Amino acid sequence: MKKLTPMMKQYFEIKKNYEDSILFFRLGDFYEMFFEDAIVASRVLEIALTGKNCGLEERAPMCGVPYHSSNSYISKLIENGYKVAICEQVEDASASKGLVKRDVVRIISPGTVMEENLLDNKKNNYLMSIYVDNNKVGISYVDITTGDFYATSIEENNLVEEIAKIQPKEIIYNDNSLSEKLEKISILNNIFLNKESNYYYSLDEDILYKYFSKEYIENLRLSDILEVKYSLIGLLNYIFNTQKQITSNLNNISMYNSKDYMSIDMFTRVNLELTETLRSKQKKGSLLYVLDKTNTAMGGRLLRKWIEQPLINKEKIEERLNLIEEIKDNFTLREDICEELKNIYDIERLCGKLAFEKINPKEMVSLKESIEKIPNIKNILLNSDTKYIKNLINGLDELKDIYLLIDNSLLEEPSITLKDGNIIKSSFDERIKTLRELSTNGTYLIKNIENREKERTGIKSLKIGFNKVFGYYIEITKANLKQFEIPNNYIRKQTLSNAERFITDELKEIEEKILNAEEKIKDLEYELFVDIRNKVYKNIDRIQKVAKTIAYIDVLTSLAKVAYENNYCKPSINTSGELNIIDGRHPVVESIIGEENFVPNDIKLNTGDFKIGIITGPNMAGKSTYMRQVSLISLLAHIGSFVPAESADIPIVDRIFTRVGASDDLSQGQSTFMVEMTEVSHILKNATKNSLVILDEIGRGTSTFDGLSLAWAIVEYINEKIGCKTLFATHYHELTELEDKFKGIKNYCVAVEERGEDIIFLRKIIRGGADQSYGIHVAKLADLPFEVIKRANEILKDLEKNDIVNKNICSEAAITYQSSSNENKELKQELVKEKNDLDEQLSFSNIEKESILKEIKLLNIINMTPIEAMNALYNIQNKVKSIGDDVL
Ligand code: ADP
Ligand code: MG
Repeated sequence: MKKLTPMMKQYFEIKKNYEDSILFFRLGDFYEMFFEDAIVASRVLEIALTGKNCGLEERAPMCGVPYHSSNSYISKLIENGYKVAICEQVEDASASKGLVKRDVVRIISPGTVMEENLLDNKKNNYLMSIYVDNNKVGISYVDITTGDFYATSIEENNLVEEIAKIQPKEIIYNDNSLSEKLEKISILNNIFLNKESNYYYSLDEDILYKYFSKEYIENLRLSDILEVKYSLIGLLNYIFNTQKQITSNLNNISMYNSKDYMSIDMFTRVNLELTETLRSKQKKGSLLYVLDKTNTAMGGRLLRKWIEQPLINKEKIEERLNLIEEIKDNFTLREDICEELKNIYDIERLCGKLAFEKINPKEMVSLKESIEKIPNIKNILLNSDTKYIKNLINGLDELKDIYLLIDNSLLEEPSITLKDGNIIKSSFDERIKTLRELSTNGTYLIKNIENREKERTGIKSLKIGFNKVFGYYIEITKANLKQFEIPNNYIRKQTLSNAERFITDELKEIEEKILNAEEKIKDLEYELFVDIRNKVYKNIDRIQKVAKTIAYIDVLTSLAKVAYENNYCKPSINTSGELNIIDGRHPVVESIIGEENFVPNDIKLNTGDFKIGIITGPNMAGKSTYMRQVSLISLLAHIGSFVPAESADIPIVDRIFTRVGASDDLSQGQSTFMVEMTEVSHILKNATKNSLVILDEIGRGTSTFDGLSLAWAIVEYINEKIGCKTLFATHYHELTELEDKFKGIKNYCVAVEERGEDIIFLRKIIRGGADQSYGIHVAKLADLPFEVIKRANEILKDLEKNDIVNKNICSEAAITYQSSSNENKELKQELVKEKNDLDEQLSFSNIEKESILKEIKLLNIINMTPIEAMNALYNIQNKVKSIGDDVL
């Protein structure tokens, strides 16, 4: 067998530790990839796959990307769901004998990227760690670009919901039994899942003390929540393993309890379009889009967080509402603050770069310029006619020392690189000043020599130039060389096609001084910059704290602005369970069609005689919009935001559920009836009497007969067993019968006006049930061929005249149609389907009757004990009693 070349041996030594990453192996000015990595990368990056002799029979598949443009290639791999391990030469090539030492210096993964082009500036980039221990789950997650760091303990069945809320970019976990669950949600949310969970193998707590002080960790009392401790250990192990360094912006872990926030499951988030729309997955058209008037990236991220985790504590909600009220009512304050905020850079992410030693001089100046605005903001707020705001801002650190440190030392427009000079002000350091003088002086001397030599030789076109190979030289054209005499001290250095280049001893002497000075300046500037960077880093927690306050003010201002511009009102929050909204509007729909075109509606629900609203009305009437508007207004109030309504009294709600029937187009076609029922089952099991439940056309995904029965049973169950506030939109008119049967259920419908053959949607919700579905009217609005509409009306009239239970009538109608229009097969089929549907629209009482008869029929009397027979009879009698006499 042939032997591997030494370099390939080195490659395999390194690669074996990074099996799950694509290894970028530095060779000169390139990163090379080999074997499987090369095959994958060449396909994803669309670059040529070549081969390299590696000592074995077959050449190693290989591809490579240039070092200087590697960033865009790395980005592309990350976007396509790969991790990249960067392997550099870790010793000076010239200093080493034989093979240069190489090692991985950093791993880039979706949850640990720092590169701006891979980050959404208004969205956190979380890496999440999950540690399962006996049904208890410790989770911790961090955004290493901003330092946001959270941890909590939850129950295993809340895990998916928590992940849907946090939306991490990457997950590590300790227990493979979770894989199936995690894979599902990862696909839905585009999360990178690390299958290898070896970050927990060593549950050595030393890693905690590498990032935090012993005292800090002790204060977290992790011994009571070991699952959280281990999740943190895994997370920090992973970060250390990818970043290969300890300095970091992680200096605070926020421990929280998920029960302190409203719980919203994944489907509800999606259905309510909180941060992105259902169809296009874009922010535009979502609730976040309407609310986001933030001026900083930090504020944008915080607002998203607020929407994703609404509060359920009355005092905390009111604190936000009061702050927003003060800004909303003060026009100049609002505008002035926005002006200042506009000029503030992403301080949190600048701190991230600072901590991971990736900040460049220009970014350091951006940090300074941002800090510069803080006293202005403080002044504006302190001088305003406010109470809560003033309190909030009073103790804000102005970071004057840091501002001065950067302002005194760095040029106003410094370089973006660290080693090419042009960073430090001459006034900051005497040595820099002297060296710069020397360098400028040198350039001046050269100019003098040029002039002197021109005169001495008489050659007017003589010039002194500079290049990297020869340094300074005197250039004389060939024509002049023939004509004039060249001084003896000129040394010929280079011949061009039309000129000769010379050097002199004098020139070389000056050159050395200049170049030396420039080299020295660069080194010194780098040194000074690193020193300044370290000094600023020591204050990173102060800067991060200020960034948090700025983000907070930004969000408050944004919500105040939206409240003012969109005419929102301040909701009052209660704990009595009464929901009362006057003239409520849908925040997103009204932003699209304009407030003046939106018909506002009221809602009143409580925990007693008015728990459930059954909403009937034709398609397109506005049922879905109305129900969503109720959830969104409630949600907005829990965020602490003003709401689109004349007035709103909102009870604290522990959970909001929103489900849409399977065949509704909203479900994107991927939903099946089974999924719909699974979701409903989830609601029935988890809703409490303090929840708000929105069910939109549930039961639609199956035949009318089944669907109606299910819908009926679900409403009954909610009313009797759960007692939560519920809105249920349906086109089954039969459900309106529930109002008479149960206390707590009330009928609503969307008003429509009939004008001859047409209908006009009034969009007004009124008491009572709809008595007609107006299906044909709506079809007419949709421009169905006139022939079809006309024929449908005829059939309908026929059906109305006769009892629809009598199936023959419908068949007759269908047959008449068939004979009058033989060709149109499709229409015929549609008609037959419609007939079948109508057949199934038996009255509900009949359904119950049939079910009881069936039950009697199936009784196995021969095999029953007398007691069993008695019980069966007793049950049947009870059922018959509950239907009432009119049926039997
Ligand atoms: P349904 O669920 O009853 O079929 P939707 O709620 O989907 O009806 O509403 C259909 C359309 O009617 C919406 O797209 C919206 O543009 C419009 N609409 C709904 N409610 C209102 C309203 N209150 N004011 C104005 N337009 C409305
Ligand atoms: Mg609808």
